[in-house]
Amino acid sequence: MSYTDKIHGLKMTDKFQALAKQYPRLFPDPEAWTIECHHEGWYKVIDDAMDLIDGELQCMPEELVAGIQVHQIKSKFGSLRIYLSQTTPYIRGCLSMAERCSSHICEICGNEGSLRSIQSWMATLCYVHYPIELARVDKEAINQTK
Ligand SMILES: [Zn+2]
Repeated sequence: MSYTDKIHGLKMTDKFQALAKQYPRLFPDPEAWTIECHHEGWYKVIDDAMDLIDGELQCMPEELVAGIQVHQIKSKFGSLRIYLSQTTPYIRGCLSMAERCSSHICEICGNEGSLRSIQSWMATLCYVHYPIELARVDKEAINQTK
């Protein structure tokens, strides 16, 4: 079981659905992508990455743009990963920057955070949410052994 499985509220939130609607080129089918971010702390990073990539698509030939869509947004090793069906060197640069930025932003609240380990999982959390998450995961581990 991954850390992601242990987090409550693993779902597509209204805010992320609305984000997808803002970028119809990147999200042509609202059902054809998944998000596994349990919180909205990285919303701004994701929005910024989509804005940069969408701007690039506006300058590309239409037949190429049609093949470039977001498939999945998730947390991996405690930082943000955005997967697209196809990429360009520019898009890979945007994704890489988003990943690096996310490892300094609390995935719960969006304030400054750092990569932390919770049991054997990694998460980027601020000084407020780190102890809260630690306590919650500990409590769940105790409940599971009952
Ligand atoms: Zn936080």
